[in-house]
Amino acid sequence: MKIWLDGKLVEQEEAKTSVFDHGTLYGDGIFEGIRFYNKRVFRLEDHMDRLYNCAHYLLLDIPYTQEELSNAVCETVAASGLNDGYIRLVVTRGVGNLGLNPFNCKRSCVFIIADKISLYDPDVYENGLALITSSVRRNRPDTVCPQVKSLNYLNNILAKMEAVRQGAAEALMLNDLGNVAECTGDNIFIVKDGTVFTPPVTDGCLDGITRRVVLEICRELQIPAQEKTMNRFTITCADECFLTGTAAECVPVTKLDGYQLGSGKIGPVTARILARFQELAQTTGTSC
Ligand code: PMP
Repeated sequence: MKIWLDGKLVEQEEAKTSVFDHGTLYGDGIFEGIRFYNKRVFRLEDHMDRLYNCAHYLLLDIPYTQEELSNAVCETVAASGLNDGYIRLVVTRGVGNLGLNPFNCKRSCVFIIADKISLYDPDVYENGLALITSSVRRNRPDTVCPQVKSLNYLNNILAKMEAVRQGAAEALMLNDLGNVAECTGDNIFIVKDGTVFTPPVTDGCLDGITRRVVLEICRELQIPAQEKTMNRFTITCADECFLTGTAAECVPVTKLDGYQLGSGKIGPVTARILARFQELAQTTGTSC
């Protein structure tokens, strides 16, 4: 497999970064997870905008223009020889000394991996996932803001472990007020009386690209949709619930902490949204 590392494609075995990289020492860096379908990169510009905004917030210099880095993504996809897959684009602070100060790091390190994607079992898209509510709260916006897609995922990893150890696929994460934020790697939506609801970004979720696409699809299909603060009661009493993310697309949720949600199967609104999402994924995107 070829990896794009700091400006060139190299063999996987040669794709090495330093143990003095602050990405490794401190989780000081950012990333994007992107999908490509039929060699076309889905919503590349949105992903790149989010990456550069996160870099701006962290005063992290990316030594390439957005156009250069978008071309690098395409180059990596072309070199993978795959038609469909998942791209991981990572920017770390780069090599510094053992101190915390990021301003001692001379140049950030950028790498891109394009690989096959492992998907949920097809059964999940019929019968839905089970969630538990995690005891670990999503970061408050005045800590590492959840809008920053940083390499610091330990909070979400703690929540994911809690889910896996209880036999659930995903964990619902609440914010410090006890309202719903998101899941460990996906945004959350519900459907109630024909309206689609999702928490606002300010309740502590990532501004997910798939979340944005789903809100666009709702407008297009004239399904009423709005952002709304929710708690566990709102989710428990939903007619339908689903998660969105680059890897998962739109995946139904039919259990929360042992409560059955809706009919216990994928709901009609979720199914319509998922079908349209898959159509868009297969027919739009940046050609490589
Ligand atoms: N929330 C979190 C915490 C995530 O890591 C992700 C990405 N896997 C998402 C939501 C979904 O975002 P996107 O649709 O941009 O993949």
